Parts: sequence; structure tokens; C-alpha cells
Amino acid sequence: PQIDPQAGAAVKAADRAHVFHSWSAQELIDPLAVAGAEGSYFWDYDGKRYLDLTSGLVYTNIGYQHPKVVAAIQDQAARLTTFAPAFAIEARSEAARLIAERTPGDLDKIFFTNGGADAVEHAVRMARLHTGRPKVLAAYRSYHGGTQQAINITGDPRRWASDGAAAGVVHFWAPFLYRSRFYARTQEEECARALEHLETTIAFEGPGTVAAIVLETIPGTAGIMAPPPGYLAGVREICDKHGIVFVLDEVMAGFGRTGEWFAADLYDVTPDLMTFAKGVNSGYVPLGGVAISGAIAETFGKRPYPGGLTYSGHPLACAAAVATINTMAEEGIVENARHLGETVVEPGLRALAERHPSVGEVRGVGMFWAVELVRNRETREPLVPYNAAGEANAPMAAFGAAAKKAGVWPFVNMNRTHFVPPLNVSESEVKEGLAALDTALSVADEYTD
Ligand code: PLP
Repeated sequence: PQIDPQAGAAVKAADRAHVFHSWSAQELIDPLAVAGAEGSYFWDYDGKRYLDLTSGLVYTNIGYQHPKVVAAIQDQAARLTTFAPAFAIEARSEAARLIAERTPGDLDKIFFTNGGADAVEHAVRMARLHTGRPKVLAAYRSYHGGTQQAINITGDPRRWASDGAAAGVVHFWAPFLYRSRFYARTQEEECARALEHLETTIAFEGPGTVAAIVLETIPGTAGIMAPPPGYLAGVREICDKHGIVFVLDEVMAGFGRTGEWFAADLYDVTPDLMTFAKGVNSGYVPLGGVAISGAIAETFGKRPYPGGLTYSGHPLACAAAVATINTMAEEGIVENARHLGETVVEPGLRALAERHPSVGEVRGVGMFWAVELVRNRETREPLVPYNAAGEANAPMAAFGAAAKKAGVWPFVNMNRTHFVPPLNVSESEVKEGLAALDTALSVADEYTD
């Protein structure tokens, strides 16, 4: 990395003067000025380098600046940088084909959006129009995006400020054994009771009023809670029974994160609509979309779909998707996530859990892992309260600072840290990340009972 603190100071000053940042109290943040990035690392203008355990916001699935994808974007820019959505364009056609080839079942039509939230918006609109029903059921402990409908579906505190702005959303509890809402002691009990709870919720809401059930296949930001075997198949059955559209949100879990192309592949389940974004092109150019079943596509066969956007299927973004998907296939990147997940990440995190009293649970699959930090392993009291801020969040802030000092950029959300590096991370990088977490967890340990 080149060292140029003066340039860094100028970047920072203009940011502080003019950039309004997401989800933040503008005067209370201190964004790091980033000079560059490559593979699993990025660095600042002082030359300090970080191993990125977050993949940005869990989207740089092939790391930063992958030369094949950068070249594909350059090539597309030289040939046809942009073109309106109503035309058939090579990069768009090919991206749709490569995605449809990988999505489960008959999800063979692709509607492109600019990102994940608008993919969710459109999935919900499609479900409402397809069924003629108003309501959407979604889970507590979920994140579906920052736009009006998507944030109302979201089950985390970021929803509260926008509550009521979109009608017809009902939240329910999805399974999560470690913090079971159902007094379950086993995954089997958790699964059965969560399904019963969902059935009851639908009965009391009125099955004829529910257009869609929206679930992250494996909730991501909310804590990487892989559902117990049988849960998603059970939801599929409930949807079929009541004519409800089953939407799986694979914006974070999709495109290799779990060691499969889609998390739905782990459960052998096919939704009616599947949303994606992030990993589809590693976020090199904004892109998201909805994969649509035959039946729903048919609804809009003769009747126009009332929705669209200027940049739907943007050629630069689609060229990046084509190159990303082909590169992932050529370089065995999905297999790498599965293999290193099983052989290095999981045993490494479990070893950390044994050594550190602050670790309550380690859970995940592929390159998609959560470490849940607690004050007390017996009571499972979280290291910081739900939605803690300021002084109440001091233990997690101290953990995060220690991780950065140790040379990694950690994903920190509430009382959890997630281990979500790029999927083409190397074994030695994973070990470097685990060693840094080991150091940072010793700081978290100081806050345990
Ligand atoms: N859905 C899920 C599961 C997500 O994790 C996210 C983003 O983190 C979104 C939707 C929203 O995507 P975007 O930020 O691209 O709008």
C-alpha cells in the first residue's frame, strides 16, 4: 500500500463536509478513509492493512478487484456502457441465463433491479398481484432492505422509524433454538413449534388475506440462524395449502455464501420467488433481482407487470455478473467456501468458543458464520442488550476496536460478530482472521460474569 496521509486527510475532510452516511448520527461517526483494496484486504492512507472479515456488507464474495471481473467491466464499458431496459442486450441476456440456470426449480425468469431492497419490493408486489391478497408475513430477526416496503418487512430495530408507512405486514417468529421463543430443547421441537406458530398466525390473520411469506433462507444480519431440517419444507407446504406465495430472500445467503450456489439448495426447497443481489456480481456494479416461477411469470404473460426501473438489467452490472458467475465456476469458489468452511472455519471457531467464556454459541455453514457473545454462558445473557447504544454497547465496541488493532475488520451487529470473508479467501487468511478474533475475544471475556 502507498502511504499518503495528506491525501487521506483530504478524502476524510470532504466526506465529513458533504457525505451523508447510512443509518448514522452524522456527527457521531468517524469513517476510515480507504486508499485501496485487493482480494481479502483493504488499506488506509497510513498504510495500515485490514483483513476484511465482512466482505464489505457481505457482498464482495470474490474479494476486491478480481482481475477477470474488472476486465469484463472495462470491456463492457468500451463496447456498450448502458442501454435502456426494453431492449435485448447480450450482457443482460447472458446474466439472466446464467442466474436462471442456477436458481432452483422453475425459477427461470429474472427481473433485474438495482439492489436487494428493490428486489424485495418487487417480489412483494408480484405476490400481491398474483394472489390478489394484501398481507405479507415476515420474521422477527430479519433484514430485507431500507426502502419503504422492505424496511417494514424487516424484523430489526431499523424498522421502527418507518413503522406504519407500509400496510399489511405481520411479523412472526422463525426458528432459532439458542434463543427459542417456543421453549424448545431440540431442533425437532423448535421446528415443529415454529411451524405450528406460523400456521396459527395465518389462521388468525385469515389465510385468504395473506399474499406472501417472506423469509431469508438463512437470516443473515439478524444472526445467521440456519433453520432446522424440515422447517422450510414445512413453510413450503403451508404456502401450498393456503395459496400463499413463498418468497425466499437470498440477497445475503445466495451466490455461494453457504457453500452452495443458493442456500435453498441446502434444504432442497423451491420458493415461488427468490430475491438476490450482493454476491451476484460481488457488488462491483449495483445489481439485484427477482427469480420468478413459471406460474407467477404466467400471471404477467398477457397482463403487463406494473413495475420497472431505468437501470433494470444495466449492461455494466450484468457484464460484471456474467464474469463473476463464470469466475466462481472456473475457480471453484463455491467449493472453496464449503471446503474451508468445514475444515478450517468451523473447527477454528469452535476452538475459540472453548477458550473464551464470552462465546455463547458458534453457528453457520460455508463462509457464513456467527459468533454470539454473552455475559454468561449459563443464562445466555447477551454481552450487550438488544439494540444497545452508547455506554451500554461498550463491550462490543471494545471487542471491535481490539479486532481492528489486531488487523482485521470485524462484522459487529448487536452482541454478535460474523465471520464472513470473501468466498475465495485462502486457508492462511482464514487462520490469520481466527488468530485476530482470538485476541479480540480476550477483550470481550473481560466483560463476562
Ligand atoms: N435482503 C437481505 C437478506 C439483505 O441482507 C439485504 C442487505 O443487507 C437486503 C435485502 C437489502 O439489500 P440492498 O442493501 O442491496 O438494498
